[in-house]
Amino acid sequence: MQAIGIVGFSNSGKTTLASRLSECLEAKGLRVAIAKYTHHELDKPDTDTALLMKPGRTIIGLSNLRTGGGEAMIHWGNPCDLTHLVPYLDADILLVEGGKTLGWLPRILCLRSTPELLAALPNGLDALHPELALASYGENRLPGLHAYSVEELDALVDLILERAFMLPGLDCGACGEKNCSALAARIVAGEASPEACKAVGSRLEVEVNGHPVGLNPFASRVIAGGLEGMLSALKGVTSGGDVVIRLHRHSV
Ligand code: SF4
Repeated sequence: MQAIGIVGFSNSGKTTLASRLSECLEAKGLRVAIAKYTHHELDKPDTDTALLMKPGRTIIGLSNLRTGGGEAMIHWGNPCDLTHLVPYLDADILLVEGGKTLGWLPRILCLRSTPELLAALPNGLDALHPELALASYGENRLPGLHAYSVEELDALVDLILERAFMLPGLDCGACGEKNCSALAARIVAGEASPEACKAVGSRLEVEVNGHPVGLNPFASRVIAGGLEGMLSALKGVTSGGDVVIRLHRHSV
């Protein structure tokens, strides 16, 4: 799955851009997932389901409409890291609205004029981490960054499909960088590729719900060594070749 962040100060047009991009991507037949960071409580309309919600409690909502399909949702009443939720997603591309501090994916900077942005321009935009930006959107410009307008959405979509990526977010340092953000900045600068990440594509690969999960190289070696030892004790298992083990998890 590819991923791209949509980052900017308050009222800079992030939601509008996320909505427009998702429409364009879906028009190309792609499955889009959207994650939204907010400083406020999540919207909870005054419904029976909202009455059940409270901190620390998990609520599953299931709606089986007789016509037009149904909906499902899980509401966790505690904070969660987005990287822990990615394996649940069934999508080709993830749009992440907000999340200025996330360093494991590239971003589009929303630069519509707001008091915060105008106070930060031209040199105070470090909080938006422009080193992770593929482009900007809105009337303001940063040197060296192409600024797209609403008339150029198709070109922006093409750029995203060509360059969006997602690193595991483990910050394990196995790629030789101090964290995922440092490698992401080098990928954005054209100095490296996502394949430089050593936590995916190693000797041991783990997928959850079809999505590759990053493994700390140390954990990868420990698990792979344990599996090798177990397999060597089984009759009929020859050395060489790939081994596929599927773990079917059933809830009780
Ligand atoms: S090896 Fe991958 S997961 Fe580890 S720091 Fe580098 S990019 Fe991040």
